[in-house]
Formats: sequence, structure tokens, C-alpha cells
Amino acid sequence: MKPVLEFFRQLPPKVCHQCGEKIDEQADCYQNTCHRCVDEQPPVM
Ligand SMILES: [Zn+2]
Repeated sequence: MKPVLEFFRQLPPKVCHQCGEKIDEQADCYQNTCHRCVDEQPPVM
């Protein structure tokens, strides 16, 4: 088995698709946009 840390290190940093800002993954409710862009452009239901 590979160490879990190595797996996460290979993952690219999560960035906003709107402004390219790095997203804090503390709130995983955001998909690919930071809270600022999400607030400006709420997801269409
Ligand atoms: Zn953004």
C-alpha cells in the first residue's frame, strides 16, 4: 500500500475556476469556485 500522504501530494492544488484563487477546502460545499465567486454567481438550481 502507498502512504496516504504521497497520494495527496500528487493531487493538484484546488483553485477557483473563476479567478484562479486557491480554495480553502475547509468548506467542501464549494465545487470549483471560491466563496467570493460563488457569492457573486450562485449556482443555478
Ligand atoms: Zn474565485
